[in-house]
Amino acid sequence: VILAFLSFAYLSYGYLYAKPEPNNHLFFVSPQDTSGIKRRSQDRRNVVEKMNELDKDVAIFFGSQSGRAQGFASSLARECRARLGVNALVADLDDYDHRHLSTFPANKIMILILATYGEGGPPDNANTFQEYLSGSQIEKTSKLANLRYFAYGLGDSNYRLYNRFVDEVDERMQAAGALRLGYIGKGDAALGNTATEDSFGKWKADMLKALGETMGKEARPMTYEPSLEVIDQCAAEPADIYLGEPSPQHLTGSPKSNINLQNPYAAPVALSKELFTRGDRNCVHIEFDISKVPSLKYVSGDHLAVWPINPEGEVERLIGLLGWGWTMRNACIDIVAKENGTPVPLPTPTTRETVLRYYLEICGPVSYDLVGFMKELAPSENGKKMLEALHRDWTRIGEELSSKYLNVAKLMQLAEPNQPWTNVPLALLIESLPKLRPRYYSIASSPSVAARKPAITAVVNAMPSIPTTPSPTAERFHGVATNYLLAVKRQLHGELDSLTPDHPSYALSGPRNRLEGPKVLLHIRPSTFKLPTNPARPIIMVGAGTGIAPFRGFVQERGKLASMGKEAGRALLFFGCRHPDEDFLYRDEWEAFQRQQPGMLDMVTAFSRLDSAEGKVYVQQRVRERGQEVARLLLEEQAYFYICGSVRMAADVRVALVDMLAQWGSKSEEEADRYLKMLKKLKRYQEDVW
Ligand code: FAD
Repeated sequence: VILAFLSFAYLSYGYLYAKPEPNNHLFFVSPQDTSGIKRRSQDRRNVVEKMNELDKDVAIFFGSQSGRAQGFASSLARECRARLGVNALVADLDDYDHRHLSTFPANKIMILILATYGEGGPPDNANTFQEYLSGSQIEKTSKLANLRYFAYGLGDSNYRLYNRFVDEVDERMQAAGALRLGYIGKGDAALGNTATEDSFGKWKADMLKALGETMGKEARPMTYEPSLEVIDQCAAEPADIYLGEPSPQHLTGSPKSNINLQNPYAAPVALSKELFTRGDRNCVHIEFDISKVPSLKYVSGDHLAVWPINPEGEVERLIGLLGWGWTMRNACIDIVAKENGTPVPLPTPTTRETVLRYYLEICGPVSYDLVGFMKELAPSENGKKMLEALHRDWTRIGEELSSKYLNVAKLMQLAEPNQPWTNVPLALLIESLPKLRPRYYSIASSPSVAARKPAITAVVNAMPSIPTTPSPTAERFHGVATNYLLAVKRQLHGELDSLTPDHPSYALSGPRNRLEGPKVLLHIRPSTFKLPTNPARPIIMVGAGTGIAPFRGFVQERGKLASMGKEAGRALLFFGCRHPDEDFLYRDEWEAFQRQQPGMLDMVTAFSRLDSAEGKVYVQQRVRERGQEVARLLLEEQAYFYICGSVRMAADVRVALVDMLAQWGSKSEEEADRYLKMLKKLKRYQEDVW
């Protein structure tokens, strides 16, 4: 009977009862929308069909973690159209089935703008592309024989595997028969924003020249031609207007399943506290309550993504400069593509204010391209002159502006503070600024102790910036997400009334008050930073500042095992901060742990601002001092070695480790280096750095 019933249910699916409808909420699904909502039709994932349908000659694929590669891809598409008359499709690598690349026509061109994420890895949206290229068949079958491509990489030379992902893709594409045109351009984040823009600008100029020659097109001077149109009327119902909800599910409350990069969870804040004990800096410990979402799980070492909101002060600054009155900023607008097939990158209909508060990264650095367009749109001759000079001498002045942390509004204010910039269209900002991105934090708890309450440790980014003329008062620079988290903490503790200019305010209740509580939008990203499967193995952990976060989880996990009478190996923890009375994170907890589990945790501290005979001490120095023991643990006891924190610190610790292995392990430097590489392959040497 059961079998008969199940067979009947299966066969009648879609006839007697409805198949689940794809979510077709108005503002998240537009014919051109490619913004995060995955297409369900197979054909729409075929890039070749899409290019034919939309009459595109070039496909610009981006693999982007921070939004920068995506921004470069959009700017390149604009320039292809404006300067060569070539129509380019901007494509998120995750939105397409890569097997269709084998039918890529010989008369079309592919361009890849690929960030390398962490130590040589792909960004999240390029994982499937990497898998496709690593497939065992691709190299043997010359599958990509028709394909011609240009490539540009974004990396950070503080990492050993600098720009590795673009190189790896290039090698594999060529092995599969594809032909690279031109050279691989490489941007280096370690050299700063201006240098990256410069490097991209140079590669772009060479690439466009080569593309023009390949396609028989003559280059014209660049002018801004919007590809989007903002229509000031919309007949949408209030419920259909995008007010900043990250996904359609949020219209009816926070989703309770399928939490991911496209669909975060609005998590209540269970606990928050200040961790710094003195000084004018802040570090926030926050625990989130995920008990209502059983499918949302984490393991020690995973990352938690926080989806921030832009600070009100910066939203208001930009709105004021743009000259938007109350009606204009709140009126419902529709955003449509001027040309069929150009993606509308954000949900629409919406309001101008929503776009600035929730959708665009308005606080980040200004790009060379945007300055180029803005100079034409400044409301006064002085403003134009200032921006023209900046555009002409970008390397020198751009570097200077970067040290002042100018965002687009601050730059406009500097160029012309007294007249409204009514010529600047919203479309230009949407096309030039990246999408507001979630920030990642290493989870600072273990599920064995706090399965439903993952914690993070965020040091609040607030730096004095150099004064600018003509506005000589130095404003502090405030990082977006960490100051948002600080505001959340202050709301929870009823401290918002005591706000000072040094504490930016945020629309904490969120779109449609869905974040009242307070709640924070988050999702969890699995990482490869993991404890050994054998808990008896000793672990060595090195962390500076908030780099200690994942080690709190590791130690909690080992402590839990020990308290259950199970074997848990020894832990040697190197921790660096400024001063023991200022920023010694979780000091009470480490001391309590050492009392409860004697002999399990050996903590070695390095203080860089302690007035002592030793002077400034950093963790790498402590690793050297304990070099013999570290080498013995690695060579004889198969210990695991973990580093977490800044890229620079990790590089210094690695150098110290190679020296120590050479000195105490009777190895040459090359052998010690090879040994570390081998440990890395075996996952016994792991880094979680940013
Ligand atoms: P942002 O606004 O993103 O600014 C960050 C930096 O960008 C600034 O300091 C500045 O250098 C530059 N910048 C921004 N705007 C401008 C401008 N207009 N002009 C010039 N320069 C500008 N952090 C932690 O505190 N704890 C953790 O456990 C932790 N774990 C991490 C784990 C991973 C895997 C990664 C990738 C990062 C981690 N981070 C961690 C860092 C964290 O993700 C954020 O980058 C950090 O908190 C700063 O975010 P923010 O939004 O406050 O600053």
